[in-house]
Amino acid sequence: MDLSVTQPICIAGEWRLGGGDRYATLYPATGEAVTHLHAASLADVQEAIEGADRAFRTSGWGQRKPHERAAVLHKVAQLIRDEAEDLAQLQRLDNGKPITECRALVASAAATFQFFAAACETLEETITPARGDQLTMSVYEAMGVVAAITPWNSPIASEAQKMAPALAAGNAVVVKPAEITPLLALELARICYAAGVPHGLISVLPGKGSVLGDAITVHPLVKRVSFTGGTVTGKHIAHIAADKMMPVSMELGGKSPTIVFDDADIDHAVAGVLYGIFSSSGESCIAGSRLFVARGIYDAFMEKLAAGAAALRVGDPADERTQMGPLITARHRDSIESYVALGLREGGTLRTGGMRPQDPALAKGNYYLPTIIENVDNTMRICQEEIFGPVLVAMAFDDEDDLIRQANDSVYALAAGIWTRDYKKAWRFARAVQAGTVWINTYKQFSIATPFGGWRDSGLGREKGRLGILQYMEQKSVYWGM
Ligand code: NAD
Repeated sequence: MDLSVTQPICIAGEWRLGGGDRYATLYPATGEAVTHLHAASLADVQEAIEGADRAFRTSGWGQRKPHERAAVLHKVAQLIRDEAEDLAQLQRLDNGKPITECRALVASAAATFQFFAAACETLEETITPARGDQLTMSVYEAMGVVAAITPWNSPIASEAQKMAPALAAGNAVVVKPAEITPLLALELARICYAAGVPHGLISVLPGKGSVLGDAITVHPLVKRVSFTGGTVTGKHIAHIAADKMMPVSMELGGKSPTIVFDDADIDHAVAGVLYGIFSSSGESCIAGSRLFVARGIYDAFMEKLAAGAAALRVGDPADERTQMGPLITARHRDSIESYVALGLREGGTLRTGGMRPQDPALAKGNYYLPTIIENVDNTMRICQEEIFGPVLVAMAFDDEDDLIRQANDSVYALAAGIWTRDYKKAWRFARAVQAGTVWINTYKQFSIATPFGGWRDSGLGREKGRLGILQYMEQKSVYWGM
């Protein structure tokens, strides 16, 4: 991508300047402009959806043999890999994540396309001989135009998780990336077209969610919305979807508990808890942001944890050794600072962090130090609300019943972590904790083959997994009398 020019956006395969206001995307590490683009206008949204519908009906993509669609998706995976370093560097500028994390996300996007290419080829239709001479068949068909609405925290990976299964299923896709991180979605669309996705089938519409997102969601030609973002936005979209009787999937917020038992491998658990909350600067839906430690080991564990947090290398995302980069925007840092202040007002005490780094070289970026707050109670706002930053609240627990009650006392139920050497206890807690994903003696590890999603306010439906492709298809039962 030539960052010196104003970026075109993708409207049903046509690359041109958006019809909305011009704006700059900013590098979170310096606050400087990365590039400029025009947001999509409402007319662009209309054109993109109508064009996608036309391409869906006329390109024959949905009718192609699965292995033919799969060949295109395999090519997308290959092209992502061919351009991996450029894409990772672009993501660093777009989002400010450390370059090592950007490389992992780009690799995961390629793996996602490869996986759904295979899922597309191996999807079986079922035929059941039933009731004497009658034959019944269950067939799956593409839906038409589906929308993918994505947040700013994992560009390219979030878009790939929606675009790959939607395309594999034979649909057209209208992507609405976060206004502040649109660049990787645009690159992914370019790559998809280069790999052979038919003209018009993909659009990427950067701009304000409250304007464009609503216009996309209410549009009668949009047959499904796959949304990743905040719970408030998700519920708003779900209300619109209810009126249209439109299926949606929702990957929403979290406040995930991490539990360390007294028989855990302490050093292993310290490293895992630090990674769980402070990787991606805590800007992660699955961040392990509520820590419960057995009282018997609490002091010793927290000593090591606080030392580990203070030793994390916070700094330039381009530096290979950096472990935590800046936050996405200055405004988001303000929100995190006000949460920390609230936590202290509520009676919490600061164990480490709670401030911006003092290094003058980092003064222009949206940096904030890894922060741990103790002496909190699970009912406090700081323990209940998603902060979406590098802030961990830590509590001691005495007995298992009370622990599980507290761990589950949250509107969110996205993920949980358990650290113990006792396999029976691990299994007991894995079953008792309410969460879409449970990690035992590890955290934030993913397989594209494993379904992902949340309970309660953390979401609706599942992404990933071989059957993730079925979310983007309509099922039809056919009874055939002989
Ligand atoms: P957000 O809800 O503000 O925005 C997400 C997307 O929705 C953006 O593209 C935005 O422009 C769009 N949007 C905003 N208003 C809309 C509307 N009225 N209609 C349609 N679209 C609209 O969330 P964010 O701040 O970008 O992302 C952070 C949130 O995302 C956090 O809560 C985080 O936990 C969540 N998240 C969840 C997962 C998951 O898989 N569960 C993954 C990543 C992030």
